[in-house]
Amino acid sequence: MTQKIFKAEGLILRTRPLGEADRLVTILTREEGKFEAVARGARKTKSRLAAGVDLFTHGCFTFHRGKTWPIITGQDPIERFSWFRDDPDLYPYGIYMAELVDKLVSEQEPCFEIFQLLLESWLLLGQSSNLFLLCRAFELKLAHLLGYSPHFHSCTCCGSEQTAVFSPRQGGLLCSSCQGTDVIKIEPGTVAIARRLIEAPLKQANQLRPTESQKKALASLTAAFLSYHLDLGDIKSRRLLNE
Ligand SMILES: [Zn+2]
Repeated sequence: MTQKIFKAEGLILRTRPLGEADRLVTILTREEGKFEAVARGARKTKSRLAAGVDLFTHGCFTFHRGKTWPIITGQDPIERFSWFRDDPDLYPYGIYMAELVDKLVSEQEPCFEIFQLLLESWLLLGQSSNLFLLCRAFELKLAHLLGYSPHFHSCTCCGSEQTAVFSPRQGGLLCSSCQGTDVIKIEPGTVAIARRLIEAPLKQANQLRPTESQKKALASLTAAFLSYHLDLGDIKSRRLLNE
């Protein structure tokens, strides 16, 4: 980022009021990573910028490098993800994914693959019949892209293939001889689903058919793994999701 004016394709992760009439938006861009930018006058009713800098907007933006933050001088929305505003069941998923990315991605680090993952996930949420699996796939793939992929192939301690539990602290499976405390019981069928969720394309998450008990195990292992390894603190939107 050295030129005074630059363009980037971005996704709006967060937006909050700034001063009397401006908005400060957190944007994840394909080209420049994540950063905050000011949308001047975006809270005035006649603002041309306002609609283009709403939460969840995917668009092409022009920025002018300001003293503190880049200033958005132009916007060309590509997709507004209206389903997050129209469907109260979808909104918690959209906001949860945005909050996870905002918390876990550092400013201005290259994150082309995370940009793609979030964009694809938001698009699929509008079409998916299985929000639960899409959300678990998103969590596991995001952890993988951040370099914290859980180990689902064998016991993380001794390498045995006869695994019995998942240890959030060890970051993977353990066999019955190596298992300690704070572990989650996991059947081979659940392990197979977790592996598919990490390895297969996101849109295939929909084709998996976990049982209710497998869903429960997947939900508790991803939640425990993410909060142990990625220092999530309090994710407000996760509570929203659980309700
Ligand atoms: Zn072992």
